[in-house]
Amino acid sequence: ATPTSIMVGTGRAAESGILFKGGEHLERTHQLQAIVLDKTGTITKGKPEVTDFYGDTEALQLLASAEKGSEHPLAGAIVAYATENDIDFVDVEAFNAIPGHGIQAEIAGKQVLVGNRKLMIDHQVDIEGNDEKLTEFETEGKTAMLLAIDGMYRGIVAVADTIKETAPQAIKELKEQGLEVIMLTGDNERTAEAIAKQVGIDHVIAQVLPEEKADKVKEIQAQGKKVAMVGDGVNDAPALVTADIGIAIGTGTEVAIEAADVTILGGELLLIPKAIKISHATIRNIR
Ligand code: ADP
Ligand code: MG
Repeated sequence: ATPTSIMVGTGRAAESGILFKGGEHLERTHQLQAIVLDKTGTITKGKPEVTDFYGDTEALQLLASAEKGSEHPLAGAIVAYATENDIDFVDVEAFNAIPGHGIQAEIAGKQVLVGNRKLMIDHQVDIEGNDEKLTEFETEGKTAMLLAIDGMYRGIVAVADTIKETAPQAIKELKEQGLEVIMLTGDNERTAEAIAKQVGIDHVIAQVLPEEKADKVKEIQAQGKKVAMVGDGVNDAPALVTADIGIAIGTGTEVAIEAADVTILGGELLLIPKAIKISHATIRNIR
């Protein structure tokens, strides 16, 4: 590859909103065989909203007060919902985030737990009888969280995040370019499958803990494939570094952008097949 042609390529990409940190990344993009995409904030808009809540006013008050201490997008949705419903927030005495599972808080001497099935099982909360409702929400592509107060089940909150309008087209183009497309998420299997179906992805790796995301990328590399990782979150940073090409969503966190080799402005997923197209055109011209 001549330095001049690489410069022309990265320049062309930049004009479209694809920012390569260096020319070598454009060359490596040409070799990609697989692409892993994070779900929340990458495939979806990352602006979740509460769609359903089961529980009484006290349950909502404790739930929302606990979530106020969390930086997770799911927490933001719950806090907004409680605010709209004129809930008074109460002081939190202790707060603990359990990555990939949920949160734990102490409020007015009560133990509040919010999160997935695993979190409830780990704390011996009996959720039987509510599992069906949970499954129903998940099948609709919603993230459903359980609430327990002092070890007793007290409610369910379901949150939905819509896919980006251009996501199906972007996935289609990536497949046409011969890439294996994989979705990676900490969310549960059913929710992940429902979202994947909406965008045309048939390979899903779900319920991955934040610290395991990079390992999943390594597993794909161990199959002898050159792989790109696309993500927006702090959680995605190690996987972005591990991948042969890390692609950050421009609307994502600063940490992800710093960890990546490429940033796509505005989070427009169509810029990913475009970046690949530019890399092919650039490298082909060199021969
Ligand atoms: P993602 O990869 O979609 O960002 P995470 O690994 O951050 O997922 O979270 C995985 C799961 O843990 C969520 O789907 C949810 O069930 C639970 N969870 C995470 N954070 C919270 C929170 N603040 N409140 C309740 N549940 C949470
Ligand atoms: Mg994300």
